[in-house]
Amino acid sequence: MTTLEAVRARAEHLMAAHLGAGSWSFAFDHAKTRAGQCDFARRRITVSRHLAVRFSEDDVDQVLLHEIAHALAGPRAGHGQRWRRTAAALGYTGSRLYDGPVASELAPWIGTCPAGHEHFRYRTPTRPLACAACSRRFDARNLITWRRRDETERRATA
Ligand SMILES: [Zn+2]
Ligand SMILES: [Zn+2]
Repeated sequence: MTTLEAVRARAEHLMAAHLGAGSWSFAFDHAKTRAGQCDFARRRITVSRHLAVRFSEDDVDQVLLHEIAHALAGPRAGHGQRWRRTAAALGYTGSRLYDGPVASELAPWIGTCPAGHEHFRYRTPTRPLACAACSRRFDARNLITWRRRDETERRATA
């Protein structure tokens, strides 16, 4: 858990370090399904005030680095090669590189069922969970295997 003041301070620090002081501005937005956004037209990075306070300090850094990488890679890079290389160089370790709700990029727990459906959790899963995409009812054959994300991803991008 963190505070908005801490998020803002971290944003200003990371943005000054990677984008140069004063070239981009920072603000909070009211998004509920994505953690951050990079507004190229206004040269502004925003972070959801609703989601920010639920994140750990590491998560906050990851959100900010994700958006700073967009600012550096440019609007046409999307989440492609160029953005991925930039983000990895900054220390971004998230792996969910798609244009869906960015919040799931940050969930520390990823689970996979035997059929390959992915699931995300912010908290340590404490009891066996079966994949609801495979079967509406609990079925032990569809048990989700969980792994904590950061370590493995860090190794992958090192
Ligand atoms: Zn993105
Ligand atoms: Zn499944």
